[in-house]
Amino acid sequence: MLRIALQSKGRLNEKSLALLRDAGIAIEENNRRLLSQASNFPVELLYLRDDDIPQTVSCGIADVGIVGLNEVMERGFDVEILQHLGFGKCRLSLAIPKNLDYTGPEFFNGRKIATSYPGILKKYFLEKGVDCGIREIAGSVEISPAIGLADGIFDIVSSGGTLIQNGLKEVEKVMDSDAVLIGTPGLDKEKREVADILMSRFTSILRSKGKKYMLVNVPNEKIEEALAIIPSMKSPTLLPLADKGWSAIHAVVDESEVWDKADRLKKIGAEDILILSMEKLIV
Ligand code: ATP
Ligand code: MG
Repeated sequence: MLRIALQSKGRLNEKSLALLRDAGIAIEENNRRLLSQASNFPVELLYLRDDDIPQTVSCGIADVGIVGLNEVMERGFDVEILQHLGFGKCRLSLAIPKNLDYTGPEFFNGRKIATSYPGILKKYFLEKGVDCGIREIAGSVEISPAIGLADGIFDIVSSGGTLIQNGLKEVEKVMDSDAVLIGTPGLDKEKREVADILMSRFTSILRSKGKKYMLVNVPNEKIEEALAIIPSMKSPTLLPLADKGWSAIHAVVDESEVWDKADRLKKIGAEDILILSMEKLIV
C-alpha cells in the first residue's frame, strides 16, 4: 500500500485529485476523510495542509506527496523529487512599489521584505551578498508595503494582477514552481513498484497534453510531401483508402502546430483533415 499525501483544500487539491482519477485511481467522491483508500489500486490518500506535506513525506508517514516545488524548497526537508506534474505553475518573485527605481539586487541592502517564504529568500540574499531584513508573515503579503510593514515583498506570482492591484512591480524572479511528486528517500521495493506504475501513468497523461491526433487523406503521389509536413513521434501511420490512388495519414502533432500543418497539407492537395483530442499517450 502506497500512501499519497495531497493538499486537503486549496489550489492544488482539485488538480491533484483529477490527475489521480485520470490515472485510473478510484477515489470516493463524497465523504472525504483525512485518510481514504482507493478501491481499485493499492494506494491510500492522506489529506493535509500543503505546508505539512514535505515533512510528512520526508519522515515516511506518507510515501509520496503532491505539493508545490516552492513548499518543498522552503521547508528544506530531505525528499526525493520524483516528477514535475506541470500544474500549479507560478513563480516566486521580489516586488517593490512601482514608483521606486530598481537598480539590481543591491537595492535590497538595508531594506525589509515581507514574505511567507523566508527560507528561500534568505538563501537568495546570501547568494547575492545582500543584507536585507526579512519579515515573515503568513498571508496578505502584498499589502505590506502600503501599510508600512516592509519596503517590498517576496511572494508567489502567476499573472501579476495582484501586484498591479497593490501598486507593486515585479523586479526579480527567484524561482519557478509547479506541482511535483515527491517521495520518501529510499522507498522499499514494493512501494517503489507502485510509485513507478503511478509515475508512468502520470507520464502518459502529461505526454498527451498539448497534443492532437491528426487524420488526413492525401493522393498517393503527395505522400512524401505530406510526410515531410507532419513528422510524427515515431513514424506516422499510413493506410490505403478504399478509393484507389488515395491514402490516409494518422499522426500525433503539437496543438500549436495544427493549423499551420493543416494549411500546408491543404495546399498540396490533402482533403478531409480531421483533428481529434488525445486523452492519454502510453508508450
Ligand atoms: P494550505 O491551506 O494547504 O496551507 P495554502 O493557502 O498554503 O494552502 P494555496 O494558496 O492553496 O496554499 O496554494 C498551494 C500551492 O499552489 C502553492 O504553494 C503554489 O505552489 C501554488 N500556487 C499558489 N498560488 C498560485 C497561483 N496564483 N497560480 C498557480 N499556482 C499557485
Ligand atoms: Mg500552506
